Amino acid sequence: MVTNFSSTFLSERNLYKVVKQLLSDEGIRLKKKLSQTFLIDREELEYISNKVKESAPNYCCVVEVGAGIGNLTSYVAALNSDKIVIAIEVDKRFAKILKALQEEFPNIDIVIGDALKIIPSMRGCSIVIGNLPYHITSSLLVTIAKSSFDLALITVQKEVAERIVSKAGDKSYGKITVFLQHLFEVNYIKTIPQYKFYPKPCVDSAVILLKRKKSYDTIAQLLEHLIKCLFSFRRKTVGKAIKNCLKGFRISELYRFQEIWKKRVYQLSVEELEKIAYIIANQKTRK
Ligand code: SAM
Repeated sequence: MVTNFSSTFLSERNLYKVVKQLLSDEGIRLKKKLSQTFLIDREELEYISNKVKESAPNYCCVVEVGAGIGNLTSYVAALNSDKIVIAIEVDKRFAKILKALQEEFPNIDIVIGDALKIIPSMRGCSIVIGNLPYHITSSLLVTIAKSSFDLALITVQKEVAERIVSKAGDKSYGKITVFLQHLFEVNYIKTIPQYKFYPKPCVDSAVILLKRKKSYDTIAQLLEHLIKCLFSFRRKTVGKAIKNCLKGFRISELYRFQEIWKKRVYQLSVEELEKIAYIIANQKTRK
C-alpha cells in the first residue's frame, strides 16, 4: 500500500523531501530515457493549476500528459474540482502512486499508456496540460496540434518555447513555429528555472499557452508538407526552394508575389507561407 501523498504534495513546503521519500519508499529509480523530472515548486504548481482554471473555466475535463507521481495532477485536481483530470502516464511503476491519489481526488482518471498513441483517439476533452517528456516534445506537439484540443497549457524546454513563439527571420524560426502558429495563437507564459525540478534537468523550462485558431484540415496538411520541404532549404532563396519543393505545380501563379520571391526561406512569414499553401490547394482542387 502506498502512503497517500496527495495531501502532502499540497501541504508540505519542502516537495524535494516529499518526492525523494516517495520514490525511495516505492523503490523507484527514475529513468532519464523517459524524461522523468518532477516540478517540485509549490508556487509554480499552483500557478499552472490556477491558469487551467482561468483559461478553461467552462471545460469539464483536462488531460495531463506524463503525470508521473501525480505532483501536478493533485494540484490541478484540487484547484479544479469541477473538472475530471485524465492523467496519462507511460510508466507502469507510477500506477500505484496515482491510484492512491484517486482516493483523495475522485476527479482523477488514470490512463497508463503512451500519450502519442492515446491522444489521437481522445474526444470530448478540450484542454491538454503537462510538463512534457522532453525526449518526445516535438512528436507530442505535432500530435496535440492534430488533435481536437482547443487549448494546450504545456511546459517545454525554454529553447523549444522560444522557437514556438519566434518570428520570421529569427534564428530559432522553423517548421514547428510555422505549423503551430498556423493552428494556434501562441503565448509564452513564463520561464521555470532548472532548480525547481527534481532531478534538476540541464536546461530551463517555460510554460506556453496554445489557443486553437484552426483545426488540422487539408490546408494545414498541405502546409505541413510544404514547410517540411522548404525549411530543408532554410537559407536558400524562396525562388530556388519553391522550384525544388513544388515540382509538378504551376509555380508561375506565385510569380506575382514579387515580395517573397527574393527572400530566404527562413524570412517567410507564417501568412506568406499560408498564402502559398492556399494557391497550391486551389490548383489541386482545379485539377
Ligand atoms: N507530471 C510531472 C511533473 O509535472 O513534474 C512529471 C513530468 S516528467 C517531465 C514527464 C513524465 O512523462 C514522466 O513521468 C514520464 O514517465 C512520462 N512519459 C514519458 N514518455 C511518455 C509517453 N510517451 N506517454 C506518457 N507519458 C510519458
